[in-house]
Amino acid sequence: MLTTLRRIVLEFSQNAELDSALHRMVEQIKETMKTDCCSIYLADHLKQHFLLVASDGLAERSLGQTTIGFTEGLVGLVGQREEPLNIANAQNHPQFIHAPEVEEDEFNAFLGTPIIHRRKVLGILSIQQKHARYFNENEEAFLVTLSAQLAASLANAEASVLITEQDSNRHLKKALHGVAGSSGVTIGEMFVVYPAVSLSTVSLKRTKSPELELQLFEEAVAKTITDFDFMTNKLQGIIAENFLDIFDMYKQLLDNANISKEVSEKIRTGWTAESALKQIIDGYVVQFEALEDQYLRERASDIRDLGDRLLLNLKKLNINEQELPKEFILVAEEVTASMLAQYQHQGLKGVVSLHGSNNSHAAILARALGVPAIMGIEKIPLGQLHQKACIVDGYSGELFVQPNETLLREYQHLITEEILLADKVKTVAKLPAITKDGHEIELQLNAGLSSGFEHSKNSGAEGIGLYRTEIPFMNRSCFPSESEQTQLYQQVLSAFPNQTVTMRTLDVGGDKSLPYFPINEDNPFLGWRGIRITLDHPEIFLLQVRAMLRANVGQGNLQIMLPMISSTLEVEEATRLINQAYYELSTELDFTGDEKLLRPKIGIMIEVPGIIYQLPELAIKVDFFSVGSNDLTQYLLAVDRNNARVSGLYDSYHPAVLRALNQIAEQSSRACIPLSLCGELASEPAGALLLLAMGYDTLSMNAHNIAKIKWVIRHVDFTAVKMMLAHVLTISTSKQVHSYLNEQLEQFGLGGFVRAGM
Ligand code: PEP
Ligand code: MG
Repeated sequence: MLTTLRRIVLEFSQNAELDSALHRMVEQIKETMKTDCCSIYLADHLKQHFLLVASDGLAERSLGQTTIGFTEGLVGLVGQREEPLNIANAQNHPQFIHAPEVEEDEFNAFLGTPIIHRRKVLGILSIQQKHARYFNENEEAFLVTLSAQLAASLANAEASVLITEQDSNRHLKKALHGVAGSSGVTIGEMFVVYPAVSLSTVSLKRTKSPELELQLFEEAVAKTITDFDFMTNKLQGIIAENFLDIFDMYKQLLDNANISKEVSEKIRTGWTAESALKQIIDGYVVQFEALEDQYLRERASDIRDLGDRLLLNLKKLNINEQELPKEFILVAEEVTASMLAQYQHQGLKGVVSLHGSNNSHAAILARALGVPAIMGIEKIPLGQLHQKACIVDGYSGELFVQPNETLLREYQHLITEEILLADKVKTVAKLPAITKDGHEIELQLNAGLSSGFEHSKNSGAEGIGLYRTEIPFMNRSCFPSESEQTQLYQQVLSAFPNQTVTMRTLDVGGDKSLPYFPINEDNPFLGWRGIRITLDHPEIFLLQVRAMLRANVGQGNLQIMLPMISSTLEVEEATRLINQAYYELSTELDFTGDEKLLRPKIGIMIEVPGIIYQLPELAIKVDFFSVGSNDLTQYLLAVDRNNARVSGLYDSYHPAVLRALNQIAEQSSRACIPLSLCGELASEPAGALLLLAMGYDTLSMNAHNIAKIKWVIRHVDFTAVKMMLAHVLTISTSKQVHSYLNEQLEQFGLGGFVRAGM
């Protein structure tokens, strides 16, 4: 039974044409379940009805014609109850509706199951039989399992239809849905980027069909040779002839006598093509790397490159050789922080990522760039999006592919309103963040993405509250040297003279990886991450801290912040290493004039809930605390910030999170230690007001939000927000918290931000 079930689902998902896939499926189900009729109805949520789309048993002329309202008939009942309905004699059921055109008079038994994807009923699958009887438990279990498995494939198939559909009128309000990742709206052309593949990520697998693998490999070799010819032609006359020799060398290596032959032999011994390729290429790389001759040793990277290109063709991905349009919306299976760092100055207008969620680092960086983003969008064949026009609605998480004129006009209007609101708040950017009754709070910047600080410098912030040092580490092929890092940090520190710049030590792991330092983990956010990595690699930590201390000579505005601290021991160990770097440098460096090596303030991020119970001990060991509410929320609620499937549960306004944030503020005040918050919550109007009321000294956010938060703070009374907080802390559900906060913002005259989703 399981095999049959898998076969049906597989065949359905492999069929490129939705109509024929549905027809084939009902035939297969009818045959497998030895029944007289099988039908499928798809939900149209706009029209609030189910449409009969495929059936083996009901009248053919009713297909695509017969509709049943969401609250009508047995099909409607299955949808409403969201559970199977098993009836021996359907015609006697009080909710049965007689629809003569479907010709079902002879059927009595009825079993219907809902097809539900992400809590939404996509359709109803039903079987019917002439003989009046209840379907047995096995039959019911089979249909329920089938429906559950079909749900994702059906959602994908519907999404594809939506993209390829030529009748643009249908798209008036039909959208692909994802998670709102970065607010704002943008209209433009999509550009799909495929991930770079690397043999280092291939795990070895055996195959039972070496002939097929051989054929795949031969095709990949042929495609790779064509690629090299294409590149040679394209670059001829543009770069010197001797540089083109590299492609000839690659082709020679692919020649039968060399790599190709060895890979083929390996495949014949039972390895998949990818595994065989990995083993042979790795073998060559090791041999080359061991050579004395430096020139030959460096050829190891050519071999690795060649292997990766073969792998790419084996995976049948299209390498992105096309030129980027002047402006584009970046679309990828997984848009990463490093992709954004790469494309930020190249015309990036929006982001659509199949993976990830609203607090993935890619989403946070899109917000920092002021670029609308949709994350975790339903699975769609990416190729179909390439070069198509679309609207990205970063407020609702909706993507409209090939929108029609009416929709475009609607969204153009929204964009204009957005610009007006942004212009309005800009008028207070340079004024202090002070409430109407005189309570002031410091606003600082979250930075790290861009090396140019012009925009950030003019944002009205007072220094940097979080400099994410890992971002400049991303688009490189190895760790930056001490002097490269020193130069970079000098630029940052000197851009904000006389204002503090809080540099966080390298915080990779989780959803941030470095191409030259792969971390493979089953549970990346609970694993080797942040300070855990750098304490395990003191050479990386020391190099970074030395560069920070050197950059601070003559500046004096550096603070060092440690991410992901989960124990006092980690703080002691990190402080010891910082002291070591300080003593080493104090003996190594010669100082001129007033310059001297300074010991910076050291602080920790509060991200791991456990340390909330150790704040008094930690306060003695460090100079400041900064709450990372993005991680604190995910760890307190056990909700992966990078997983769209649970994005509805990730909520920094959950009463537990708010109470924890309040406790942190109370304890920090008792310990007289400066407290800031640098998670995304600080950049939201309601979040900022709650934190202000809790007593946070500093809020740190991206440059685009500074003026907005100043506007918000300048339009409230501190006494009023204190009362608002007191009430919020008594509420027990997130939903109630949100609706109460929205009401309050309306009362403060700040409802425009709620309605605009800002
Ligand atoms: C946080 O976790 O809130 C934070 C600011 O750090 P990051 O988002 O970089 O993990
Ligand atoms: Mg964090």
